[in-house]
Amino acid sequence: MTALPKRNLDKSNAQFQRALKRLPLGVSSTFRYWGDDRTIYVHHGKGGRTWDIDGNNYVDYRLGYGPAILGYADDRVDAAASKGMEVGGVFALSTERELIVADRISRMVPAAELVRFSNSGTEAVMAALRLARAYTGREQYLLVEGGYHGLFDAAMWMSNMDEWDLGSNQDPELVPYGKGIPPTVKQLAHITPMNNYERLEDMFKKHGDKLAAMLIEPIQGNCCSIMAEVEYVRLARELCTKYGVMLIIDEVKSGFRVGKSGIQGLMGVTPDITTFAKAVANGYPISVVAGREEVMRHFRYGGASHGGTYTAHSVSLAAAEETLRILDETDALETIANYGESLKAGISKILDARNIVHSYTGHPSMFGLFFAETPPNNYRAWKTSDYSFYDTMAHYLHDLNIIVEPDSREPWFICEAHGKDPSCLTDTLNAVERAVDLVL
Ligand code: PMP
Repeated sequence: MTALPKRNLDKSNAQFQRALKRLPLGVSSTFRYWGDDRTIYVHHGKGGRTWDIDGNNYVDYRLGYGPAILGYADDRVDAAASKGMEVGGVFALSTERELIVADRISRMVPAAELVRFSNSGTEAVMAALRLARAYTGREQYLLVEGGYHGLFDAAMWMSNMDEWDLGSNQDPELVPYGKGIPPTVKQLAHITPMNNYERLEDMFKKHGDKLAAMLIEPIQGNCCSIMAEVEYVRLARELCTKYGVMLIIDEVKSGFRVGKSGIQGLMGVTPDITTFAKAVANGYPISVVAGREEVMRHFRYGGASHGGTYTAHSVSLAAAEETLRILDETDALETIANYGESLKAGISKILDARNIVHSYTGHPSMFGLFFAETPPNNYRAWKTSDYSFYDTMAHYLHDLNIIVEPDSREPWFICEAHGKDPSCLTDTLNAVERAVDLVL
């Protein structure tokens, strides 16, 4: 790798050494560790930019894995959150604002007939799966390769790469994401490669009558934003209906981002249960499990347990009310998509001028950049592709004050503030041009 004038990370590096003594790996989420001399400690974020404690100013396309849909420290949302603070936190009782926010969600997403709040994406998906089990009286569930649904044991399984014999009709073995996940859990789980219609039909033929739920992220926000084909999601819908299985569309990343009614609205597919989280409150912790009335009514005494001390916290709820109002009533999502399109066009111009073959996956508001003519159509295609060009480019981009995921798994997330600050686009494209030339 060619050397670049070094970005000064002295303070972050010193902080890392101090933090290492108290925090495992020096961080609070393992994915925030980027190496002993590259782990960034943030001073603050504003708009589409983040400042680290050394004073480096980055255009940020991670946006906290997506939540900052309007931009960091948005004045409108923060003012609303302050009002939420005056309410007083949590009471082990309900407040009027819950219904106001739930009504807004139902208006924006027709499949969200009834709504419950949680705190994180993990909690929402966990509740969704429990609800599906309570409703169907079944225990097993189907995952799609490349999807990510949170940190709970049932969600942390992937297929064994050594068994990816696409010609065979065998279900691949499931392997855990890491240690500490009991193998007994996997007895209830199945997994299938996305956009493989035959395997999906087969899966339902074999296991459909035992499945409580199929969990799918139609735009894989944790795998290069690879898209499910609309026909594939429709087939999933048909099979779920035929076999009495709950279709859970996980919109933790795509919800209120790719459109007002999420990816399900763009694809015209109605799930039984949906989960939302990231963009709901512009970064304040809140998530949503929503769905068909008949199913959602199983959240009751003697039915599926749901609750949590911090559920529907007054600060997060107030932030959600304002964020969703902005997303619903203004052209924020258009600004975001337009910026994404301009950014993609600008990157393509740079790459085309150097005859670098590339393609994009996903939606302009959360897109993946891929260095091949045809983008991957599922996790297997991505995992077996050569992503070294991207990874090296991402490394240089960090040194050039652009934050993207260090590898190509996470998409580039766009916020409204990027679109409102023309310097974000020019700074990014200048950096991309330099980074590409350094890789070449
Ligand atoms: N589902 C999806 C689709 C996600 O992207 C994530 C987080 N990246 C989760 C669930 C879990 O959300 P959280 O990290 O808030 O628990």
